[in-house]
Amino acid sequence: MVEIPDGHPRKASLMARQRMVEAARMGLLAESAMIAHGRGEAYDYLLGERTIESASRAISETAARLHEAQNPVISVNGNTVVLAGKDLVRLAAIIGCPIEVNLYYRTDERIGGLLSLLGEQREEVASDFAPSGWVGDWRNRVLSVPLLGSEPDGSISGLEGPRSLCCSDGIERADVVLVPLEDGDRCEALISLGKQVLVIDLNPLSRTARNATVTIVDEVSRAASELVKSASEAGSPTEWDNELCLREALSVISDAGSLI
Ligand code: ATP
Ligand code: MG
Repeated sequence: MVEIPDGHPRKASLMARQRMVEAARMGLLAESAMIAHGRGEAYDYLLGERTIESASRAISETAARLHEAQNPVISVNGNTVVLAGKDLVRLAAIIGCPIEVNLYYRTDERIGGLLSLLGEQREEVASDFAPSGWVGDWRNRVLSVPLLGSEPDGSISGLEGPRSLCCSDGIERADVVLVPLEDGDRCEALISLGKQVLVIDLNPLSRTARNATVTIVDEVSRAASELVKSASEAGSPTEWDNELCLREALSVISDAGSLI
C-alpha cells in the first residue's frame, strides 16, 4: 500500500481507490466495478465530497424505515462490502437483520470471497466497542448477524437468469430492502413486488435513484457510517418526498461553482 499523507486533500478518495484495486486483485469485483466507482467519484466531486443536508434527511428516514420493517434485509455487492462492509455489519446488528450478498454478475467464487470478507469484518466489529447508546451483549449480537448468499433458494420475479436469484430468508421475504449501489432494473423489479427499496447512489439521475422509495445521494462509506449513528436513535418514518430529495441534490451539483 502506498502511504498517503494525512493532510492530503484527496486522502479518503485515494484510500478508497486503493481498497478497490486491492479487492479487484483478489478477484472480489466484477470487471465493470471500477467504472461504476469512477462514475460515483465524479458525482462526489461535484457534491463537495460531503454528506449534503438532503442526504442526512434521507439517512434518518432510511434508519426509521429499517427499524419499523417486519423483515428488513441489507443487500450488498462487491463495491459495497469493500468500501462499507464493517459499518453495514454494525447497522445489521443494531437493526437485527441479515446481510445478503447479491451480485449483478454472479459467480460462486465472488460470492464465496465476499462472504468470507464479510465474515472477517463481522469478527472485527464484534471485537470493537459497541456504538454509543447500545445496551446489551454487543459481541453476541454482531456474531448472530446472518450472512446470506451462498445458496440462493429464492427468486426476484420480473428478472431473468442469474440476476433473479436471491435468498428466501433475505431479499425474497423482505418488506424493506436497503440496497446500496443497486442496478436500475433490479430496483424496479423489487419496487414492483411491493417492497420498500432504500438505496445509496451518488447519481441523483440514475434509474435506481429515481425509482427507489428513499434515495440517499451520498458516498456509500460516508452514508453507512451516518446510518449507524442514525439507527441508534431512529425516529418514525415520515411521508417521504423522494423527488424533492433528488432535486435538492441536483441543485447542490448545479451550484458546484460556489466551491471554486
Ligand atoms: P442505473 O442502472 O440505476 O440506471 P447506472 O447503470 O448508470 O444506473 P450502474 O453502473 O448500474 O449505474 O451503478 C453505478 C452507480 O453507483 C452509479 O450511479 C454511481 O454514481 C454509483 N456509485 C458508484 N460508486 C459509489 C459509491 N462509492 N457510493 C455511492 N454511489 C456510488
Ligand atoms: Mg445500471
